[in-house]
Amino acid sequence: MTPLTRHSAMGLRQLLERREVSAVEVVQAHLDHIAASDGHLSAFLRVTGEQALAHAADVDRRITAGEPTGTLAGVPLALKDVLATRGIETTCGSKILESYRPPYDATVVRRLREADAIVVGKTNMDEFAMGSSCENSAFFPTRNPWDLERVPGGSSGGSVAAVAAGHVPLAIGTDTGGSIRQPAAFTGLVGVKPTYGTVSRYGLIAFASSLDQAGPIARTVTDAAWLLEAMSGHDPLDSTSIPEALPGLRGTLEAGVDGLRVGVVREFLGTDGLQAGVKARVTEAIDRLAELGADVVEVSLPHAVYGVSAYYLIAPSECSSNLSRYDGVRYGLRCDGSTAEAMMAATREAGFGAEVKRRIMIGTYALSAGYYDAYYAQAQRVRTLILRDFAAAHERCDVLVSPTAPTTAFRLGDKVSDPLAMYLNDVFTIPSSLAGSPAMSLPVGLDDDGLPVGLQIMAPVLCEPVMLRVARALESDLGFDPAPRGPNSLTEVAA
Ligand code: GLN
Repeated sequence: MTPLTRHSAMGLRQLLERREVSAVEVVQAHLDHIAASDGHLSAFLRVTGEQALAHAADVDRRITAGEPTGTLAGVPLALKDVLATRGIETTCGSKILESYRPPYDATVVRRLREADAIVVGKTNMDEFAMGSSCENSAFFPTRNPWDLERVPGGSSGGSVAAVAAGHVPLAIGTDTGGSIRQPAAFTGLVGVKPTYGTVSRYGLIAFASSLDQAGPIARTVTDAAWLLEAMSGHDPLDSTSIPEALPGLRGTLEAGVDGLRVGVVREFLGTDGLQAGVKARVTEAIDRLAELGADVVEVSLPHAVYGVSAYYLIAPSECSSNLSRYDGVRYGLRCDGSTAEAMMAATREAGFGAEVKRRIMIGTYALSAGYYDAYYAQAQRVRTLILRDFAAAHERCDVLVSPTAPTTAFRLGDKVSDPLAMYLNDVFTIPSSLAGSPAMSLPVGLDDDGLPVGLQIMAPVLCEPVMLRVARALESDLGFDPAPRGPNSLTEVAA
C-alpha cells in the first residue's frame, strides 16, 4: 500500500472524502515523516505540529457533522518563510527578522487556511529570496532529497525539498526571477509562477515588488492547478492585484495538445553551458509533444539574452528600496549604537548576509543620481524589449518551451564564491519574470547522474489554462515518478 506521504493532494482528498482516513491521520503521518527525516534535509525552519493537528481535528469534526469544508480540506501544506503567518515566527531566512511574529496572515495564507489546507510549517529559503541554491539562508542550507550532497535550488529550496521528500504534498514558493521553477526542476517537481498580479502579494515580504509572485509547488500538475485556484484571486489589499480572475484551470487540464502550437526558444536551446543531459531530456520531451499532436515550431526571443543583466539591476534596485525598512526600529533585530544612525548601521551590518548586502549596494548605486539613466532606466528599456519579444512569439505560438535551468542540481558549495555563476542559473527563467507572464517547470526525466531535468513551459498573460494543459498532456505521456531515488538520495540514506 502506498504510504500516505506518497499520495498526491488529490489522492488524499479522495481518501478523506471516502472516509478511509481522517485528516488527523493524514497530518500525523506527514508530521511523523518530517520528524524522522528532516534531519537529513533541513527543509523546515519550524514545524507547527500542534496548530496543524488542531486544524485537522476541526476538519474531521466538520466532515463528521456534515458541515462544509474547503477544497483542500485535510491536505498538509508547507509555506515558504517569506509569507507572513499570524503569531508564527516569519524570518524570510534572515537574522534581521529572527523572532519576528507578524500580527496578520498574508492573503495567500488566509485563502489557503479558508480552503482548509493544513499548514504544517515554514520552509527554509535564501535570505529575502535572493539566491538559487538555498545556501544564502542565514540559518542553514537545505539539501536535495535526490542527492544529499547537492542543493535543492533556490530560493524556494525548503519548499521543494519538503514536497519531493513527501513531507507535504503541497507547498507555496515565491518566484522573482525563477525561485519556484528552478528549484522545482532540481527536485523533479511541478512548480508554477502565475501571471503577475493574479496572486496577492499582501503579506509576502517584498524583495522586488514588480517581479515577486507566489505560486504552487506539487508532485503533479493536477495538484498544482488545485492549489493555484485556491490561492489566486483579486485582493484589494494589494494595489498590483489585477481585477480579472484567473480562468478556471481544472476543466481543461485533460484537453490534450492536439492542434496547439508550441514554440521552441532557439536562443535557449543553443546556450553555451547547457548541460548535455538537460538538452537531451528537453529535446525528447519536445519530440513527444509533436507526437502527441502539437505543432512544434522554432521561435526567437532576440533580447532574452539581456534578461540576466537587466534583472540584476532592476531586482537589486527594488530590493535596496524595499529593504530600507529594516532599520532596527520597526521590526526584528536591533543592535546597540550611540546614535540612531549608529544603531541602524550596526543592526543592518549584523542582520543582513553577504548576498543581501551586495544587492543593496548594487541597487543603491543603480538608482543614484548620475547613474540612474545608465543603469536602472536602461534596464527598464531592455525589459520592454523582452516583453515585445514575447508578444511577437505568442502571435505565432500558444506556449513556448525551453529548459528550466541550464544545469541539474549542483553540489553544495560549488557556486557560493562566484555570484555571477549563481546568477547565470536564472538565464531561462528571468525573461518571463520580466514580462510578468506565467511560466512553469515540469519534470521530464533524469540525466546520466540520475538527477531530475525540468522543462519550462511559458504562456501569455492569464493563459495558465493552456500552459497547464500542455504540462498535463506531457506528464501523463512521460509518467515521470517523482519519488527521489539513487545512491545518495534521502530514500536510501534514511532507509
Ligand atoms: N535566483 C534569483 C535571484 O537570486 C531569483 C530569486 C527569486 O526568484 N526569488 O534573484
